[in-house]
Amino acid sequence: MSEGRDKCVLIIDDSATNRAMLKNILKDEVDVVEAENGEKGLEIIRSQISRIGIVLLDLIMPGISGFDVLTEMKKEHMTDYVPVIMISTANDPGNIEKAFDLGALDFISRPYSERIVRRRVLTTISLFQKQTQLANKIDRQYKADEEQVDKRTGLPYKKNFFNQVDTQLKNPNLGSLYMVAMDIDHFKLFNSYYSWERGDEYIRKIGSILTSATQRHGGVAGYLGGDDFALLCPARIDLVNSLSEQLNRYITENSFEPTFRTNFGVYPIDVAGVHDARQLYDLASIALETIRGDYTRNVTVYDPAMIQKEQDEYKRLLNIRSGIRNGEFTIYIQPKVDMNTGRIFGGEALARWIHDGTVYSPGLFVPVMEKNGLISSLDKLVWDRTARYIKKIIGEGITPLPISVNISKTDIFTMDVPEFFSEIIRAYDIPPALLEAELSESTFMRAPERAADVVQRFHDLGMSVSYDDFGSGYAPLSTIESMDVDMLKIDTTFLHMTPDAPERSRNILEPVLAMAQQIQLPVIIEGVETQGQADFLKRMGCVYAQGFYYHTPMPADRFTRLTSEPENVDASGLTIGIPQAYRVRQILDSNYISDDMVANIFGSTLILNRTGSIVKVGWSLLDHYRDSDLTDLVDPASDVPFSDRVKEEDKERFCSIFDKAIENKDKGAKGTVRFVTKRGDRRIRMRLYYMRSNVSEQIFYSMIDEIDEE
Ligand code: C2E
Ligand code: MG
Ligand code: MG
Repeated sequence: MSEGRDKCVLIIDDSATNRAMLKNILKDEVDVVEAENGEKGLEIIRSQISRIGIVLLDLIMPGISGFDVLTEMKKEHMTDYVPVIMISTANDPGNIEKAFDLGALDFISRPYSERIVRRRVLTTISLFQKQTQLANKIDRQYKADEEQVDKRTGLPYKKNFFNQVDTQLKNPNLGSLYMVAMDIDHFKLFNSYYSWERGDEYIRKIGSILTSATQRHGGVAGYLGGDDFALLCPARIDLVNSLSEQLNRYITENSFEPTFRTNFGVYPIDVAGVHDARQLYDLASIALETIRGDYTRNVTVYDPAMIQKEQDEYKRLLNIRSGIRNGEFTIYIQPKVDMNTGRIFGGEALARWIHDGTVYSPGLFVPVMEKNGLISSLDKLVWDRTARYIKKIIGEGITPLPISVNISKTDIFTMDVPEFFSEIIRAYDIPPALLEAELSESTFMRAPERAADVVQRFHDLGMSVSYDDFGSGYAPLSTIESMDVDMLKIDTTFLHMTPDAPERSRNILEPVLAMAQQIQLPVIIEGVETQGQADFLKRMGCVYAQGFYYHTPMPADRFTRLTSEPENVDASGLTIGIPQAYRVRQILDSNYISDDMVANIFGSTLILNRTGSIVKVGWSLLDHYRDSDLTDLVDPASDVPFSDRVKEEDKERFCSIFDKAIENKDKGAKGTVRFVTKRGDRRIRMRLYYMRSNVSEQIFYSMIDEIDEE
């Protein structure tokens, strides 16, 4: 670690014991300087700023507090040069938020583990150094030859590029043109995620693709520094799409996370309109902004409405930012219930913004915050509030129920999420099983490896993880199986689950439920709004639900009142719903159970299909008393329908059993019928259950056994 030696750690803490402890943990890796109060600390930072790699700051000190030190550092722009980690004691987690706002990068709470402290401190120092070096490097290069050509990409730099564009635009024979603004999503993270070298290569790759595009199709490409590129090209969207495809291929071939794709904002140049290169680029950038963080699109064309949208979003963002600072964000909790008993077994914490007396839902602020990375500060706040709530409930002697919180996909890229949870669980001293993490389908889809790692680490902490919003996108069923989650949340608002279209919902839900049951995964259905939906879902074997029909999200104290009545709650743990029809089909379908085993469990079983008065065998399985004659009778491949084999006198009775089974879906119907076979009449006792209908036929499940002729 000789490299680390050129920088030292400054510990500002009034307690000599605490300083000694920290010093002891760190002294083998870095030099340590100590200050016993805020004044001394600030003095050292001012005089030796280039030497200090990081400040570990105690929040609570007599005289100048940690907050004062931070405020001062921020005022003098020292936080731009030196990262600060604050140290808080277990009982002041509310302060953590305030410290983040003041520019602290991280926090460690007492009591801390040596390993965590060492890791936090060293990573923060090195990440911070790398970032500053990178910024300097770009700055330097950029200033040195801004007018010229960028060596890495071979493209003209900003001024040079804009001049060339202006010249081209003066050409009176101008065809239709596009101005395209491009950048890489989360490029800063890319560098710390992979390496500068890979980052450089990526930038070079974009340069070479743009160069060959302009050689083939004309136009000008430029490099604007950082991860920003621009292109003036013929107005052909296929051309832009092909650039995007080439770069996507590059991402895939190098196994980079798809999050780091290049985005394209296209401005179609109006021959009669603006002809200033920089303004054209700004307009293209506005289009580009609208797809930042939208992983489903990476090319978009400018639309005048975007300017308004951009301005609105910007205003809202300013409001949100001050809202966070002013404590306008809070959590609501929505109960999760067992549909069979109506009892509550848990809740989900949902962010709410109470601004000017109105309660705003996440739809208004989460997408904007996700786009610009502010979401992580909101999420940390929500997680912290939730942990605090759980602590409070335990303190009041109320049975605590597990509460889940949402993890945004940007969080898992921008911060060490499980580590943060480990800190709050420790700070509030709550059982980890009471705090659950929800990762959404898009996270599992877009960043499967990273998600799997995060899930594993949540499990190591003793927390459970839910797969949120399954069904909202196009995640294949196999993603559920490959992720080691503890609960599946199915998003039914996307299934347009209406009473008049239950068949469609069923077709989508059935395979998912079957798969979940097979891998023993509890399922909760979100968005249950009516009794009809609840009944329908119960019939399909669903047990758990979260929806307005049961409870809407509510302020935390209302949730407390509701769950403090013992008859409203169920703290017995989750079961896996086993739909009756499913149990059968599962076993029939599964390949780990042999036919003989099934026959032993169920006896002889038939699936019968009825169209009008004709009944055919769709599928059959006979127990081991079968003989070839009987096998022939129930053979699905037989040309003679099953109903034609019934003895004439019994035909009417045979029909009536089917009708009764339809009338009585739960209990089914039974009866004895004689069949004509090669070896004479055979008396068969049938038990029949109606399963469902499709377009042309009714489907029944039947258990049969033969009664010996006496
Ligand atoms: P989600 O995690 O799927 O949360 C469930 C959403 O469904 C909540 O919306 C809830 O109010 C809504 N919902 C529940 N029952 C019904 C119903 O019967 N009908 C309908 N139509 N909706 C129902 P909400 O609170 O507006 O949150 C929307 C989304 O915003 C959440 O979806 C989640 O993805 C995100 N979100 C909420 N809080 C946070 C947060 O603290 N951090 C992050 N990153 N995202 C959050
Ligand atoms: Mg959720
Ligand atoms: Mg959900």
